[in-house]
Amino acid sequence: MKKYDYLIVGSGLFGATFAYRAHKAGKRCLVIDKRAQLGGNLYCENVEGINVHKYGAHIFHTSNKQVWNFVNDIVEFNRYTNSPVANFKGSLYNLPFNMNTFAELWGVKTPEEALSKLDEQRKEAVEKMKAEGVSEPRNLEEQALTLIGKDVYEKLIKGYTEKQWGRKCTDLPAFIIKRLPVRLVFDNNYFNDSYQGIPIGGYNKLIDGLLEGVETITGVDFFDCERSQDAQGEWEVKSDKFEAHCTQLVYTGQLDEFFDYQFGKLNFRTVRFETEVKDTANYQGNAVVNYTDAETPYTRVIEHKHFESFGQAVYENPKTVISREYSTEWKDGMEPYYPVNDEENNSKAERYRNLAKNCKNVIFGGRLAEYKYYDMAPIVEQVLNMDI
Ligand SMILES: Cc1cc2nc3c(=O)[nH]c(=O)nc-3n(C[C@H](O)[C@H](O)[C@H](O)COP(=O)(O)OP(=O)(O)OC[C@H]3O[C@@H](n4cnc5c(N)ncnc54)[C@H](O)[C@@H]3O)c2cc1C
Repeated sequence: MKKYDYLIVGSGLFGATFAYRAHKAGKRCLVIDKRAQLGGNLYCENVEGINVHKYGAHIFHTSNKQVWNFVNDIVEFNRYTNSPVANFKGSLYNLPFNMNTFAELWGVKTPEEALSKLDEQRKEAVEKMKAEGVSEPRNLEEQALTLIGKDVYEKLIKGYTEKQWGRKCTDLPAFIIKRLPVRLVFDNNYFNDSYQGIPIGGYNKLIDGLLEGVETITGVDFFDCERSQDAQGEWEVKSDKFEAHCTQLVYTGQLDEFFDYQFGKLNFRTVRFETEVKDTANYQGNAVVNYTDAETPYTRVIEHKHFESFGQAVYENPKTVISREYSTEWKDGMEPYYPVNDEENNSKAERYRNLAKNCKNVIFGGRLAEYKYYDMAPIVEQVLNMDI
């Protein structure tokens, strides 16, 4: 039986970054993953020479210089800047809401004109609520109308949000939208962060770099392994592919599964991807196009090559790959993507977290084990701040 300091369950960004740091610190690590490949949701599949983000489009963004330098030391990042476009019934609008959007919506040319239009529509919404004897927005629709007015809401928010949540905006709570920032400048850069990009050569390069020199085994589900803990809390974990004695377990799988679903299952929202190879070099001219009307069944179309090729280089490959994204209710067997932050799930998750706190020699980390949505950069930041 081989001895390890850490058995890391899950080779996603949390597990891989943890393994990298532990390996650098001279610790012995084994990383296992139930999928056939490493990398968790960052994994990209090469289709027609294009890196396809198989588990959803991933754009790295951060203002944390330490995190940015860390990932760039593993692999250099390109200059991709996320600037999605919205398609509402065939008309195109720039996102996030900025002077380009307002010029497209209303033909306005100056920030002053845009602001006056926004204020007029916000006022209209507040007055309508007042006339109904309401002082605070009762649902997401009222909240959005008072924050941004009816034109932006109806064309760019309503249909998209209803598809995302599978519910009418009038049935969704107001708190989901706390702020709707508008930019009174011509700037389509979606993120406000100082740094953003995609690893040159794709995310698999980042994962390969993090896991260089670390023992890894794919196609092994931790829960199919024979497991026991001795009096000191040390683990023995066995499968037909490995036998490990380890001091600490780093667990990045689902929180409820670790505790055998004893308080019931935690719920998720998921996304179904319909991926297609197109016989054209440039299908939509942008990596991300959101379909903001209610009639189009998908929320977004991703054209993967635009994450990594720019300008004329787009035409060097005569083909392209697109993925249509359908926001879907999660059922067993589907990928658990977004935690559902309602009262029932939050309180169930809290009970599981309390069990986790008392587990000896187990570190629970990452989006599944914490039942919490994290972007990639905060995951890296968390691991960089851990004592390993
Ligand atoms: C659709 C989508 C789009 C996203 N886009 C962005 C974006 O643009 N920018 C951004 O910053 N962040 C984005 N994120 C967030 C990003 O995916 C996460 O921050 C990141 O994946 C977290 O890494 P992780 O290691 O916690 O989880 P994961 O990547 O999910 O890794 C967990 C790993 O554990 C393995 N595992 C689970 N259970 C077991 C088991 N029982 N036995 C063995 N292995 C197991 C899984 O197979 C998986 O490989 C997005 C997330 C989603 C869902």
